[in-house]
Amino acid sequence: MTTPKISRLRQLAGPTLHFGLSLALLAISVTHSAAAQESADTPWFGLTPPPPFQAHKLPAIVGERGPTPAMIPAGEESFTEFTGETIWQDLETVVAFSKQSRDEQEIGSGQLWGRISGFPSSGRTVEWMVARYQDVGIEQTDIQSFDQDEDASFWLPHAWELRIRGNDAFGAGSQDVVLETAHPLSPSELPGGRLSGELVYVGTGSPAELAHIDVNGKIAVQHITPQAHLVFERATTVPRSRDMFARGALAVIIIVDQPGNEMARDFSNCGGPCFNVGGRDGHFLAGVLNAAAANSVSEPIQAEMTLETETYRHLSAINGIGVIPGSESDETIIINAHADAWFDGAGDNGDGVAVQIALARHFAKPENQPSRTLVFVASAGHHTRGLNGPSAFVEMNPSLAENAVLAINIEHVAQRNFSPARSEFEDGYREFIADSGEAPIVAGITNSAPFLESLFVEGVDRYGTNFVSDISTMASGEGGGYRAMGAPIITTMQAPPLYHTSGEVIEAVSMPGLERMARFLAFFIKAVDQAPREQIDP
Ligand SMILES: [Zn+2]
Repeated sequence: MTTPKISRLRQLAGPTLHFGLSLALLAISVTHSAAAQESADTPWFGLTPPPPFQAHKLPAIVGERGPTPAMIPAGEESFTEFTGETIWQDLETVVAFSKQSRDEQEIGSGQLWGRISGFPSSGRTVEWMVARYQDVGIEQTDIQSFDQDEDASFWLPHAWELRIRGNDAFGAGSQDVVLETAHPLSPSELPGGRLSGELVYVGTGSPAELAHIDVNGKIAVQHITPQAHLVFERATTVPRSRDMFARGALAVIIIVDQPGNEMARDFSNCGGPCFNVGGRDGHFLAGVLNAAAANSVSEPIQAEMTLETETYRHLSAINGIGVIPGSESDETIIINAHADAWFDGAGDNGDGVAVQIALARHFAKPENQPSRTLVFVASAGHHTRGLNGPSAFVEMNPSLAENAVLAINIEHVAQRNFSPARSEFEDGYREFIADSGEAPIVAGITNSAPFLESLFVEGVDRYGTNFVSDISTMASGEGGGYRAMGAPIITTMQAPPLYHTSGEVIEAVSMPGLERMARFLAFFIKAVDQAPREQIDP
């Protein structure tokens, strides 16, 4: 048994390895497992190459079993404007603005797209929202233009590539592999637009790991497994990347364990040139680095990156406004949804926009006229540095803002829940699969008013909304810009894994989830509309 094995290894070692190393490697290889030995004659240690990147594609599995149907409490049967199918049509239009951004290569080569404030894609979305307000019968509408803060600048990547260099040492015929989900992080720059170097794997890049690893003059490969969306990883991932640059790293590649193969936009200011790498690309890269170590390949694994960027200043954007006057009061309830998005942005914040339009349609009907004034804000959003939709709204509409009793921010509210569950494994890669619920929705109440909290408790009973069970005063995303009004802020927000990734496509959204949230928010707004001010803000 041993003889054929060794002769096979000799065969492999000859053509694939450098002459000086081949004997030593052969000696080591003999002690390794059959799997390790067999990998040397196939490209890239026999690992499955990553699939090509596909835009507008859900990187997770959605089976035949649909989401839980929406609950329609008695008396709400006639609210047909809230059916999931109706809201879905608006969501399709919102996502189409993003697809147009990619088709037209709005940003550089079109590797990044979205509904980006300061650019036509976001402006088109806001204009369309205002047209929808008018369609549903709102007479008082406005489009308000505002400029980027004087001292602000906005970095965007225009074109880039991350290439892992092929080498027969990694298996005969190992050609270059381009990791197509690589995504540069703000504000990365490469001197001369190009950088090459040797890769070194650093695990999570914690101080305990880096104490044993020399990253000086190399490209560090950091590996993170997000618990939910990447926001929650910023506090560890970014300082660890910065630590690697302090130790002399040339660049940092962050493997983000995400479902499928998608670009992830999150993280910034990591201290030097940084790229995120998504799902299957990251799985491949980690596999190569591990196989090289397991096979004791001393030939370094080299990467080459290119990057063209542009920093924008003096941009401008628009907010849209639709006002439904109250029958009894000038006091206002602000209902906000941000139009801007990275990539398709079906969940952040296409679903919030579509739900907001359903609410406008509902309250514009004479039989649903509120006592207080409802102000729908189609916000330019908050992704573009120096262009904040809510701040501009507050500044430009002092009377509406001063009279506000409450601001309600609808932001990421109807995405399906995706989890690794007991799902399929192919080549050891974990796939995510949709279940019958929506991703958890955090309900932030900045003033913790018991009355407002009771409405969320009741909402779960009436509509089956998947609110997180503990109370929160969170008002992130759009919320910050409304704080200047002094009124309490309600934020409804999911934090699912596909957030800020190219995989957040329309199939990630739950059609009954749209209906659930629209019905709940209508119920919530009606209760707030009828409540005395002391109850809303005790
Ligand atoms: Zn958002």
